[in-house]
Amino acid sequence: MTKRGRERSSICREQCNHRKADFEEDDLFGQSVEDDYCISPATAAQFIYSKREKPSGFAEPLEEEEDGEEETPDNSTAADISLSAVDQARLYSCLDHMREVLGDTVVEQVMIDAVLQSKFDEAKALDLVLTQDCNKNTNPVNQDSVSTGKTAKGKARESQSSRTECEIVPKMAKMIVSGKKQTMGFDVPSSASEENGQSVNVCEKIQPTDETLQEADNGLKTVLSSLTYQIPEEPNSAPAIGKVSSKSKQQIDVKAELELRQRGKQLLNLVVIGHVDAGKSTLMGHLLYLLGHVNKRTMHKYEQESKKAGKASFAFAWVLDETGEERERGVTMDVGMTKFETKTKIITLMDAPGHKDFIPNMITGAAQADVAILVVDASRGEFEAGFEAGGQTREHALLVRSLGVTQLAVAVNKMDQVTWQQDRFGEITSKLGHFLKLAGFKESDVSYIPTSGLGGENLVKRSQLSELTSWYKGPCLTEHIDSLKAPQRSVEKPFRLCVSDVFKDQGSGFCVTGKIEAGYVQTSDKLLAMPPNESCTVKGITVHDEAVDWAAAGDHVSLTLTGMDIIKINVGYVFCSPKEPIKACTRFRARVLVFNFEVPITQGFPVIIHYQTVSEPATIRKLISVLHKSTGEVMKKKPKCLTRGMNAVIELQTQRPVALELYKDYKELGRFMLRYSGSTIAAGVVTEIK
Ligand code: GDP
Repeated sequence: MTKRGRERSSICREQCNHRKADFEEDDLFGQSVEDDYCISPATAAQFIYSKREKPSGFAEPLEEEEDGEEETPDNSTAADISLSAVDQARLYSCLDHMREVLGDTVVEQVMIDAVLQSKFDEAKALDLVLTQDCNKNTNPVNQDSVSTGKTAKGKARESQSSRTECEIVPKMAKMIVSGKKQTMGFDVPSSASEENGQSVNVCEKIQPTDETLQEADNGLKTVLSSLTYQIPEEPNSAPAIGKVSSKSKQQIDVKAELELRQRGKQLLNLVVIGHVDAGKSTLMGHLLYLLGHVNKRTMHKYEQESKKAGKASFAFAWVLDETGEERERGVTMDVGMTKFETKTKIITLMDAPGHKDFIPNMITGAAQADVAILVVDASRGEFEAGFEAGGQTREHALLVRSLGVTQLAVAVNKMDQVTWQQDRFGEITSKLGHFLKLAGFKESDVSYIPTSGLGGENLVKRSQLSELTSWYKGPCLTEHIDSLKAPQRSVEKPFRLCVSDVFKDQGSGFCVTGKIEAGYVQTSDKLLAMPPNESCTVKGITVHDEAVDWAAAGDHVSLTLTGMDIIKINVGYVFCSPKEPIKACTRFRARVLVFNFEVPITQGFPVIIHYQTVSEPATIRKLISVLHKSTGEVMKKKPKCLTRGMNAVIELQTQRPVALELYKDYKELGRFMLRYSGSTIAAGVVTEIK
């Protein structure tokens, strides 16, 4: 029996009678032992975030790039070169476009030379300039920004930058949880080269074609238009992901199709969590860059823009932090979503916000994740700040565990700030290890990787820094990601998708996005939306912006729907199979674990229920019983109040109907978090729907 299967059956048994064995087998909330850790105490002082005020341990702003000398108008300018009128116009046009990307960092003459050399092909010209530029300065973020290990890092970067010589159009989708219109970033190559199973081959294989370059230039426009579902009329083209050969709808063997589609690779949804400023976005942005998912031009642009905005050290973070506000505030707010491949996995990466204000968004990201990377800041004082009361390290770790994530990779980041000291690494891992064990993670499911997100060390290849290699022989981050286990997907169960965004697209109908939790969907399928109990037809499906004929559990999809009014659909609604619909209710019973919350929870207590993309006000209608923490036996019936650490059965009443499932039937739609006044106060699983 699979692990999940075991968990499910365990809950099932537990519902009938709370037997001791069940509890030993599966601690539902990932917290099996008494713990006195503080999770967002209501009393904690409001964490006022200000990136600017934060004393950063490294030089910022970065040293000016070698734009060197002033422009030299006395030398031959574009106007001076003897060209035909047409070529002169082409030259001007190229220069204008190049300036948009390069700003005034490159002398005009260099640009002119590049344009002439590339025969007015501005993309090639940009490449030429950037290649020269890269040779001078091999990393998009200036090396001075990292205070230690400079020489060795410089070398590493050189080799890494040469791996990204080719042009790849990166793609990034945003999973918007606030009901905002979906925004799109840029394209990541959706299917990496399979050859040798090497992710770096993605980069080597894809040659810069006019098409991809054009696409890069069109940027947002292209990606947005690609959202519109069109059946591509390319009879000769290779089958796209999820394409079934026949146009007419037919029953498909999903398992076989999935196998074919994933080319033997496993799908893994990965969420990046951790305290604000731990370096999550920088780490993942740099990882994507090193894997060749962000082209040099885009990276250069980010470098320029972030420098202009006085946030040069955030260049890599901008790969994932897409919105103006995120960049302005220097924090991730929405859950950034992108895709990359490793040797054995196709990874959907979710960059969850670390800031306390955006925990609900983080819950949404975590609810859709199979595994997590917890990023902690190794700098002295910073790790402690994130780990102590009020920090998000503990809260995030506990949330993901409560939401079903069992495997955790801890990136002990900013190791450059502590000169890669083994002692510091040991100190952090032992403190965290103790806590994570209490939070319900098995020791064998947690591993620690020393990294520097900014320096790109130990991310996609093992670091060669002697300070590190002298004591660390373990895998780098991607190697470790590769070794994580992918969960069993419920492809054979009835279809379920929880809406994370709704938006009107061109053409008829509208689009919803979300992750398929169970079953599969084909174009022209009929679906039912719950709670409104409205039906519709699937007109189009896209997975990572690629039009497909079907998609299955585990996929993040965008569905184009017809036959239904957009105003009827909200974020948090569930689309399901009309034959076996999800239940909608306003009252249900659940088994909860109360976190470290100071205020006693009484009947009538107001809470917000969070699960998947749902966040719904509710009240605790009844306190049914208190259970023994490890045996599950009823200790007390109808308690007056619940206090921290208690395991209890309660009845919840929502204001509006919600669509949910029993935990034993659909784990993903049957587990939730309760929050009150900005604090997560309990985790729960649905045991009875009224
Ligand atoms: P997030 O809030 O966790 O996403 O953190 P960011 O990625 O926005 O990074 C916060 C700050 O830490 C930025 O100024 C980064 O440049 C800096 N930073 C991130 N990773 C490292 C690292 O490995 N070493 C150093 N020295 N600074 C880093």
